[in-house]
Amino acid sequence: MKNEAKAKAQERIFQGLAVSPGVAIGPAHLREAGEVSVPDIQLPKRKVAAELERFQQAVAQAVRQVGKLKAKALSIHGAAAEELGYLLDAHLQMLGSSRLIGGIEQHIREERRNAEAAVMAEMSAIAHEFDVMDDEYLRSRGQEVREVGLRIVRCLTQADFAAYDSLPKDSIIMAEEISPADTALMDPAVVGGFATVLGGAEGHTAIMARSLGLPAVLGIADLTTAVQNGDRVIIDGSNGLLIVNPTEQRLAEYQNRLRSLAREQRALARLRDVEAVTRDGEKVSLQTNLELPRELEQAESAGAEGVGLLRTEFMFMNRQDLPDEEEQFQALAEIVTGMSGRPVTIRTMDVGGEKLAFSLGDQLIEAANPALGLRAIRLSLKQPKLLEAQLAAILRVGALGPVRILLPMISNPSEVYEVRKIMEVVVRRLKRRGVPLADPIPPLGVMIEIPGAALAADSLAKAADFFALGTNDLTMYTLAIDRSEEQVAHLYNPLHPAVLRLIQFTVEAALRARIPVSVCGEIAGDPRFTALLLGLGVRDLSMTSNALLRVKKRVLGLDMQAATRRAQVIMDQSDSGRIAMLIDDFNEALH
Ligand code: PEP
Ligand code: MG
Repeated sequence: MKNEAKAKAQERIFQGLAVSPGVAIGPAHLREAGEVSVPDIQLPKRKVAAELERFQQAVAQAVRQVGKLKAKALSIHGAAAEELGYLLDAHLQMLGSSRLIGGIEQHIREERRNAEAAVMAEMSAIAHEFDVMDDEYLRSRGQEVREVGLRIVRCLTQADFAAYDSLPKDSIIMAEEISPADTALMDPAVVGGFATVLGGAEGHTAIMARSLGLPAVLGIADLTTAVQNGDRVIIDGSNGLLIVNPTEQRLAEYQNRLRSLAREQRALARLRDVEAVTRDGEKVSLQTNLELPRELEQAESAGAEGVGLLRTEFMFMNRQDLPDEEEQFQALAEIVTGMSGRPVTIRTMDVGGEKLAFSLGDQLIEAANPALGLRAIRLSLKQPKLLEAQLAAILRVGALGPVRILLPMISNPSEVYEVRKIMEVVVRRLKRRGVPLADPIPPLGVMIEIPGAALAADSLAKAADFFALGTNDLTMYTLAIDRSEEQVAHLYNPLHPAVLRLIQFTVEAALRARIPVSVCGEIAGDPRFTALLLGLGVRDLSMTSNALLRVKKRVLGLDMQAATRRAQVIMDQSDSGRIAMLIDDFNEALH
């Protein structure tokens, strides 16, 4: 009977942001709908005040989350927006001075129970009262109380959500928000793809999805109320569509699409060992960005010439403590030896901003403007012990294969000099320990991802051995558009003339100083940008392995001289719409 009802369920199509291409078909798994189990502890009297404080902080966080969902709901048209708005208002009321909150505080204060257990007890008691009512509307309020209660529990535990391994194969995760750390837990052998309410196209969650090859659609405002656990869904990550309960005809159409994607992959795989050279004989280096060690295999099958950007954040995610030098060395050694003599550019940690690591403390979470705060190199220089351990691990793996060290979020040459000094101390210390080291010491380069750094590229070129252009952050900071914020995603545009001028400025400064320059932002992996970047003088691109062969195909079809001429025309333009037209027109002619 239930299956019959499902078969008849109406197809519904939702539009969101197309952040990670491909198609996934499978059962929906609503992440926030899962059961939770929490410890039930009797607290000593002296800990009660702190527990109340912890509870209040969790409630404040829950209020912020619901506020964000409400802002997003305003973008929906029609009755659905109103309905969702009422629902979220009711949640906000419950998070205010309600019976729920008062009751929980009483359990903590009088029974000295831990906050999680107090929430579960009060939530269940109130929800049960609603459950037994005759009126259907009042009965549904019980479910809302549970939703609010479980949200507070999740804020309290800050726990990773249920491990995804136990889900049925090809499950499609639906969630309000998925962090980069959550994405790192997804195994593509189990998870088919995901969709969320919040998140932007260039945030690290999107980047992680692309690198794992998981189709994803973000920014669907009424997602969690529109889908039931177990519904059959299709994620069309190329067009930003989520299709719930697809018709048989639609299903067949997407199954065809999956087959043609597989055919395209097989054709691209033939380019693996072909050298990336333009039609007029210019060599281009195509390297991979690595988020997680398990992507090494993909890098291998894409024929990457090296790792142009190793994001070491993976070592700090999903854990309560910090990795020591030895643990970092082991993790990096696996990658450097796995690349068998090809160069690996290791970036020191870029934690902060949207990439939170709880093990690094609350300061990162509470900052008013985390993207402008204690992020990346700023955090490393403030906590030099962390940086020393990381540099020591990198210097040690330098003995196993060619490595380069890359510093994120550099804005001043003085930061580079400071790191050089710390590095000298670490080298001396390692030598005293008799540890084998790279000889000579690996080059030290900087990310150019802050507009000020691009404008001062000449002076940074004197301090650094190489540049890596981080166009994701460069675009975000130049245009003042949060890369992970879906509400302004339509304004995020690397083709804005200001961004292109900063790229050109940086490349020219590097060429003048005769230091290598690469691009490792997401545009490096988008064939639409290949001709423009090469035309601007870039010869080194680093991208997710999944994009590498498609970019190689574009390089093989290009004439460098024509690309250079087109880049010159583009750099004379002041309108991003016209720039886009000039690029698409040029690319079109290549087909
Ligand atoms: C960038 O900002 O372009 C970049 C490559 O670094 P991340 O995406 O890790 O911030
Ligand atoms: Mg960056």
